[in-house]
Amino acid sequence: MFYNLHMDALNTLNLLSEQMELEHAEESQGEPAKPACFTAKEQRSAFVQPAHLPNGKQIKLLKTLLSSACERNCFYCPFRAGRDFRRATFKPQEFAEMFMKLHQSQAAQGIFLSSGIAAGGANTQNKILDTAEILRKKMGFRGYLHLKIMPGAEKGQVERLMQLADRVSINLEAPNTERLARLAPNKVFIEELFRPLQWVEEIRRTQPAHKFWNGRHPSTVTQFVAGGSDETDLELLTTTDWLMKNVRIKRAYFSAFRPIHDTPLENKAAVDPIREHRLYQASFLLRDYGFDLEDMPFMQTGNLPLPTDPKLAWAQMNLVERPVEINRAEKRDLLRIPGVGLKGADAILQARRTQKLRDVAALRKMGIIIARAAPFLLLDGRRAESQLSMF
Ligand code: SF4
Repeated sequence: MFYNLHMDALNTLNLLSEQMELEHAEESQGEPAKPACFTAKEQRSAFVQPAHLPNGKQIKLLKTLLSSACERNCFYCPFRAGRDFRRATFKPQEFAEMFMKLHQSQAAQGIFLSSGIAAGGANTQNKILDTAEILRKKMGFRGYLHLKIMPGAEKGQVERLMQLADRVSINLEAPNTERLARLAPNKVFIEELFRPLQWVEEIRRTQPAHKFWNGRHPSTVTQFVAGGSDETDLELLTTTDWLMKNVRIKRAYFSAFRPIHDTPLENKAAVDPIREHRLYQASFLLRDYGFDLEDMPFMQTGNLPLPTDPKLAWAQMNLVERPVEINRAEKRDLLRIPGVGLKGADAILQARRTQKLRDVAALRKMGIIIARAAPFLLLDGRRAESQLSMF
């Protein structure tokens, strides 16, 4: 027995959780290593992953599928129809019982649940809904639930899903209709993928929070296969920026394309994981740092340069000749300095209420990364770089 699971359930879970690393979850960027607090058993299990929730808490997240049987044929996907591998399916009641055993043995505290599509998106969505309802209403599970919206789901189903989940998501996979056609010809970009994200926001705006799980509207995220359709970073970030501003997605995930054996894209070259990293950096600049798309240092190809992070590239073009005076700058200008994060900018604003900031040692104590920030700032009129040799 493993976590008190019957061998059949364990085998099913192992089959369903293989190849789930393509799905990024919660506040991760790619798959994190399992931390030392995971037991030896948990270190070995494919299905429980460490995940940081939006509130910063780390939990053990069961990341899996309800079924790996799928009737769609997405060109990048290991679960696509017709691919030869062993598939598995849980019924909603079986899944809920299996999870509660993991939960009671403290092996998992939350769930990220997706599924392959069988007999239509609405039918599959019902299975996910049934599972969540059993967990919440019959078994009293109060922990974290991230539930996938299935392509083809109906608006009423999305609303019910939102009433049970802490987070809902649907993967756009590509930034627009034309690009999606190269990746997933059976998916309809606007009607099946984009519209549900609009529904979520519409429901959040029109329905009071007390009608939802724990009295809160669930958050929304989406994911793209970066480089899978030869799209540019400009296309990916244009769509991401629109979604963050208009339907309030919490974030976008970028999963660098990797070819998978026995898929139509098996001979396509893998995308450099650094590209994924640069896309995350750029999307956080758009979301948290007041940057606009026009500020992004796109090359003529429409992509971001791989060797330099986008904030540093912007500063090299804009701040070398016009460094930011730390003692007078507004928060939005402080946030433009490489090495100054959200906490650092607040610490500077707080400190300068009572003192003039004249040396880099004071900034370092506030968590500013001086080696990155120094070329782009002034301390009471003097270049910070001149002080670096003193420290
Ligand atoms: S619908 Fe989902 S599971 Fe099915 S092939 Fe496409 S991406 Fe894979």
